[in-house]
Amino acid sequence: MSSYIKQIQTTLKQAGLYTDEVDGIAGPKTVAAVKAAAANELLDAEAKRAVEQQNASHPELATPKPDQPLVEASGFELGEKSLKRLEGVNDNLVKVVKRAIEITPIDFMVVEGVRTKERQRQLVAKGASKTMNSRHLTGHAVDIAPVVDGQVSWDFNDYYPLAKAMATAATELGVKVRWGGAWTTITNKSGTPQDWVKAYRAGGGRFLDGPHFELPA
Ligand SMILES: [Zn+2]
Repeated sequence: MSSYIKQIQTTLKQAGLYTDEVDGIAGPKTVAAVKAAAANELLDAEAKRAVEQQNASHPELATPKPDQPLVEASGFELGEKSLKRLEGVNDNLVKVVKRAIEITPIDFMVVEGVRTKERQRQLVAKGASKTMNSRHLTGHAVDIAPVVDGQVSWDFNDYYPLAKAMATAATELGVKVRWGGAWTTITNKSGTPQDWVKAYRAGGGRFLDGPHFELPA
């Protein structure tokens, strides 16, 4: 929350460009209003930057890009590191990841599979995980991250196509998989990952774990 963003939202509201709540949170509607305001120079460059920065630094506020279609043969392959990180992970989950890499429109790598208790303790202490009962401890979870231009991307928009590829793979293989980006089972689920995140947020969910996929307990 930011009083500067609130001030910007008030200006936008007075100009009739913004009809949502003046809450100091630069969500998609605020970003859209700022874009509309650019045309009539209602806001200065500093205000635009502030809104964009707040929006970009919070994955849960990011404005979703349109859904990317799956591909027949992606040409992507899991690298050595990814395969190594799948060691000890449940076979069914491994199968889903291996199918997902074949159909994903965006390359990805496995960043974590089985996790030790000690590492889990550290992640909980940092606030990066919420539980000591993580499915990673038992080999029932993997974290995968999109790779864009040879680099791991933390842009939440890049996680939607991965979630879609994983959902399609899980459905094909009949494996029940849950995605941490919306904390919902994605096997046989209708709608897009963007819809799932929207529903999760509408229900008050705030802990979006985009890379995380697990076999539900
Ligand atoms: Zn995870």
